[in-house]
Amino acid sequence: MSQIVGIDLGTTNSLIGVMDSGFPILLADSEGFRLTPSIVHFPVSGEPLVGRPAGRMKAISPERTVFSVKRLMGIRPGETGKDNFPFRVADAQGKTTIVIGDQTVTPEEVSTIILRKLKADAEKSLGSAIDRAVITVPAYFNDLQRQATKRAGEAAGFTVERIINEPTAAALAYGLDRLKDRAKIAVYDLGGGTFDISILELNEGVFRVLSTNGNTRLGGDDIDRDLVRLLEERITARYPEIRHELKDPLFSARLRELAHDAKLRLSDENGVQIEIPFLSGNRRFNYLLSRQELDAITRPIVRRTRSHCLRSMDDAKVAPRDLDEVILVGGVTRMPIVRQLVAEIFQRLPNTSQNPDEAVAVGATIQAGIISGEIQSVVLLDVTPLSLGVETFGGLMNVIIPRNTTIPCKAGEMFTNAVAYQRSMRIKVLQGERELAKDNWELGSFEIEFAPVPKGVARVGIQFEIDANGILHVLARDVSTGQQTLLDLASAVDVSDEAVEQMIAESVDHAFEDMSERVWTETSIKSNELLPAVKSALTLVGDQLTEADKQEIDGLVKAVNEALDSKDIQRLKSANAALDQGTQHLATLLIDRAMSEAERRRAG
Ligand code: ADP
Ligand code: MG
Repeated sequence: MSQIVGIDLGTTNSLIGVMDSGFPILLADSEGFRLTPSIVHFPVSGEPLVGRPAGRMKAISPERTVFSVKRLMGIRPGETGKDNFPFRVADAQGKTTIVIGDQTVTPEEVSTIILRKLKADAEKSLGSAIDRAVITVPAYFNDLQRQATKRAGEAAGFTVERIINEPTAAALAYGLDRLKDRAKIAVYDLGGGTFDISILELNEGVFRVLSTNGNTRLGGDDIDRDLVRLLEERITARYPEIRHELKDPLFSARLRELAHDAKLRLSDENGVQIEIPFLSGNRRFNYLLSRQELDAITRPIVRRTRSHCLRSMDDAKVAPRDLDEVILVGGVTRMPIVRQLVAEIFQRLPNTSQNPDEAVAVGATIQAGIISGEIQSVVLLDVTPLSLGVETFGGLMNVIIPRNTTIPCKAGEMFTNAVAYQRSMRIKVLQGERELAKDNWELGSFEIEFAPVPKGVARVGIQFEIDANGILHVLARDVSTGQQTLLDLASAVDVSDEAVEQMIAESVDHAFEDMSERVWTETSIKSNELLPAVKSALTLVGDQLTEADKQEIDGLVKAVNEALDSKDIQRLKSANAALDQGTQHLATLLIDRAMSEAERRRAG
């Protein structure tokens, strides 16, 4: 069986590993580093540069150097506005693209270029070809973001064996599959530009993600930015006359690099000497930066992770004392101040036994080993971040797979036609927590046709299946004809990870309104069934009613119509009930009429 590699396709850095004699090892790229910056530079002519060589071009040619492309994976145009990239992000035919000169590339293609380098460098160091991979994604990645990642891997020449969640991979790397049953683990991941917190539970050797939370605009880059600001202040205090020099893009890129290096060194040292010999007019700038100064910058940034941690524990219904382990992931967690703040949040010392920026890749490699049979036991299980369902008659959300269901999973429901003799039904696949269909995201829709039958007779089964990669397959089947339709997700509308956070927050904020809207919709559906039924009964058997009866029914009908206009749920409910009650004898007359007609037919 051929080897399978494990890949952490990170926002800032990517890594690749392989099992060697039962141990996961990470492979160095052609520059000699295990961490390959997720940066691609597109020169005016020739092949793109990837990794460290591309990173060096960031300052020189910012508009042709693409970084943090993971933020754009599977993202709907218009949702990209929050990022201020120095390269051009555009919207071409409803797709997010990156424009470089007269060339355009998609985020997926940029990821493919990064994956291709990882693959080529790994093959060089192994001396053999590799074509199978396990790739990690953030736990909150939605279906389309997972699919985009999978396609990027395939375009790079891999068979993508599995897409797994980053926190789950990290837990594997920390060896937590050997913990006691029902152990609960917090995975705290602070990377270059994103913060993720996940609570996992180990159950009979199986990991389950109980909850996820985070901030997609929080990470080491914020520390770099604030440190650059501090250095700029110190430089201008010393040489106010060269303030304008600081604005030069090359100068600020070099300053940023210096700041970044100083930050890394301060994780191990108490002070670093910063020297800037490249100021104009023989000016020199020397500064001894202390760890305390860096801590003062870092503290407020890391404090912002606290509320996410608390919410995540709340969602998972665990208190800090219920946690068996807190593990650290992401380069920033190498900083002592971060470890200290994490210990305060979770009221325990975090486990620091692994290299935090390598743990996800090591876990992906272990998962690759499990698939290839080199390692036994441990199955990975994850949960759906948002509920999935379909729109029903009246515009309501009908949940088929609730949020936080363990995947892989399969669920279905039977639907019928709401209108007599309708020939088709539009199935809208929705994702979200709101009661009304229109407030949730439409992932896609399709039409299913069936033979015309009276109202409520058609039987359409809809099945949702989420596979081990977290990808959704929707199947609709007309039970009487057996005709099947599988949802094509290519036309799907996508949602960003931030939007997921927002959706959950909104569903809580609107819970009461949503409930009342739902009750209103259901009540008005009832009215809209009653009114035409009464009307047709009156034309058929109205002549058998007394004038007083007729007037009474007219009054009840009027009351329902007025209640519909008033938008008052209670009023509509009682008007419906009164009309229902007041037309009972009408129903009796209808039945009598139908029976005597049947008799007449039999006699004739
Ligand atoms: P991502 O998951 O976003 O790809 P990483 O986990 O590789 O990112 O983390 C990258 C971030 O970690 C960068 O902001 C980098 O500066 C920071 N980092 C890496 N090593 C250290 C260190 N020793 N001290 C402080 N920050 C570090
Ligand atoms: Mg990461």
